[in-house]
Amino acid sequence: MKTPTLFVSHGAPSLALEGGPSRDFLTSLGKRLGTPRAIVCVSAHWDTPVATVGLAEHPETIHDFSGFLPELYQLRYRAPGDPALGRRVVQLLSDAGITVANDEKRGFDHGVWSPLILIYPEAQIPVVELSVQSGLSAAHHLRVGRALAELREDGVLIVGSGSTTHNLREIGRTGPDGGPPEYYTAFENWVCDAVKEGRVGDLVAFERLGPHARRNHPTPEHFLPLFAPLGAAGEGAKGEVLNRHFELGTLSMAAFLWE
Ligand code: ZN
Repeated sequence: MKTPTLFVSHGAPSLALEGGPSRDFLTSLGKRLGTPRAIVCVSAHWDTPVATVGLAEHPETIHDFSGFLPELYQLRYRAPGDPALGRRVVQLLSDAGITVANDEKRGFDHGVWSPLILIYPEAQIPVVELSVQSGLSAAHHLRVGRALAELREDGVLIVGSGSTTHNLREIGRTGPDGGPPEYYTAFENWVCDAVKEGRVGDLVAFERLGPHARRNHPTPEHFLPLFAPLGAAGEGAKGEVLNRHFELGTLSMAAFLWE
């Protein structure tokens, strides 16, 4: 049986501490997913020119944000790394013709630990972090996912951690009814429908086809992690939409699961 693949919107780092529907959703998600042997997580918060794989044995928790509650800086996610799996990721990407590098010191940024500390609080499942390339296309990230698909047969959960919508300059903005503005719900609707219907080619062309795509993603690094689990799910795979909910006015917390 193949392990599912997952995209999560990780929200603000404070989600790890503060209650709300998205926190409740993430804390219940581990039960739904079961216990994978290991996790490969593509994070929006590690942006490098070429795909880079974290190989640390005991990755440190990186607090790569400022201005949040002091308690947040005390949190540690002590899941082990998995250098052997990391080297296999390097090999699979290289075999697929993708330029790849590794980093033996890289810790877990909050794109990795803030959702995982809620999904798997025991921190016993090894995690390998993989970077995102904001200078490269959605098609590149889809190829990365395709190259990693065979890991699903070995119990590896492939996760993309980013955000379905992400425009920090418009955080807190609302529409006339107090809900999220229409140009955010239109994009979120479009993404959710494309995921459900398996319209992978449309998603890859999101900058051209997604309504108000540039406004929802002035820079693409929070959307690109979607394409790793999407690619690993296989050609035309239809996903399930979980947790349709907006936080801070414009931040969609939608998550997608491919089984
Ligand atoms: Zn983020």
